[in-house]
Amino acid sequence: MTSNISSSHFGPGRRLGLVLLLIAVCSTPGAASSDPLRILIVTGQTDMAYHDWRVNVPFLRGVLANTGRFEVRVLEEPRGLTREILAGYDGVVLHYNGPRWGGAAEQALEEFIHSGHGMVAVHGVSYGPFFGYRNEDGKWVPSGAPWPGYSEMLGMSWKTENIGHARRGVFTVKWVDRQHPIALGLEPSFTATDELYHKMDLKPGAHVLATAWSDPAAGGTGKDEPQIWNVPFGQGRVVHITLGHDLTAMSQPGFLAAFARATEWSASGAVTLPAQISAWPKPAKDAARVLVVTGGHGYPAAFYTLFEGYRDVTWSHATSPSEAFKPGLRDRFDTIVLHDMHNELGEKEQVALREFVEAGGGIVSIHHAIVDYTSWPWWHEEVIGGKYYEKAVEGHQASAFKEGVEITGVPTKAGASHPVMRGVPPLVLDDEAYRGMWISPKVTVLMETDHPLNDKPVVYIGPYSKARVVYIQFGHSESTHRNPGYRTLVHNAILWTAHSM
Ligand SMILES: [Zn+2]
Ligand SMILES: [Zn+2]
Repeated sequence: MTSNISSSHFGPGRRLGLVLLLIAVCSTPGAASSDPLRILIVTGQTDMAYHDWRVNVPFLRGVLANTGRFEVRVLEEPRGLTREILAGYDGVVLHYNGPRWGGAAEQALEEFIHSGHGMVAVHGVSYGPFFGYRNEDGKWVPSGAPWPGYSEMLGMSWKTENIGHARRGVFTVKWVDRQHPIALGLEPSFTATDELYHKMDLKPGAHVLATAWSDPAAGGTGKDEPQIWNVPFGQGRVVHITLGHDLTAMSQPGFLAAFARATEWSASGAVTLPAQISAWPKPAKDAARVLVVTGGHGYPAAFYTLFEGYRDVTWSHATSPSEAFKPGLRDRFDTIVLHDMHNELGEKEQVALREFVEAGGGIVSIHHAIVDYTSWPWWHEEVIGGKYYEKAVEGHQASAFKEGVEITGVPTKAGASHPVMRGVPPLVLDDEAYRGMWISPKVTVLMETDHPLNDKPVVYIGPYSKARVVYIQFGHSESTHRNPGYRTLVHNAILWTAHSM
């Protein structure tokens, strides 16, 4: 299919050598099994009234990427597909329902699979290029002449009058070939909340891997309908998964396992992935364990997003000192993020927190936590190295704040080479100015401002020697929490104080 070399150009020996070489190349797609398999998700149009590729494709991409087994890219314009583009991939995931692509692109995909690569086709691909599709206004547009190879690749056809499914609901999908690498080691069945496609005509070459009983009470056929099958196409492997109507459907553990393992099998001919596939990034084994402490002062909910989406951070949340500071903290956490505001801290809590930092547990104090624990001078003098005074006390005037101020923070010379400032540019933030604080001469300032309503240091390392301590003054507003440079700063501070960087 891919070669126009005729036997007249080569003697029989040369030709045999070429054939053996091709077999050797084709039998090791993705090279060593530890190398990531390169997957191209082909999309850009779906039956928009029901399936939104803009929502679904990032999800599918994340599922594959989270396994660590795949390197995934997305093609949003299939009409531009060429043999050269596909040469960089081991397999394709098809999430497309729309007009035909034109001869060159269609042939490129056919040749790609035919020559020994893989494809997984998901859910709504099952009718578009055969018959037509719904455009963005919900109008049905006929496809004209169907793409003949498409039906062969998917191992099915679907008569127009048969296109349909039982009412969306919960049903059981049974693996019927449990020895197939995709199903091997999985539970005999799984639960779907999905559309149960029915009345599809499978090609003779299709090998059914999983079925589901279609309940007539929900508008089904009363039969076991094929849900997942594989079909050879030349030297290649295609798996069709009829499931995956929306994000809820695709979040089911059974779908996740079937999809990720089918993608690996179709692209490599083998399955190494586990039975449990996560829809979100799983934390690394050595992720920094963080306790986030709030209470005593309000804050935008966007604050929580500072801890989400990282593989190197796991976090728990405590909303009061008594909930947060208990004996044995250091066994459970590598660093504590303080975003609370309490003048008093009970004796038991002081003991637990002191034990934690004396055992090397890190501290990241953010914004209004600089008011913390007035009744415990050791904390702000020896550990944090700073203090905001709500009221004047003997020897110190009251500090002052102003919300809604544009403040610029610039890395200092010490900051420029410090791990906490890695990748943090000068920040321009709509935040809250603090002025008239006490700041220890023993702190190391990493970022400062020359705003007249603010004290000069805005990010510094505390004086404490037994643990790593960082104070970050910014953090009042949602726009700060969502600022990429600020997010990097907080993330760095967590990793550095946790001894993870
Ligand atoms: Zn659907
Ligand atoms: Zn504030």
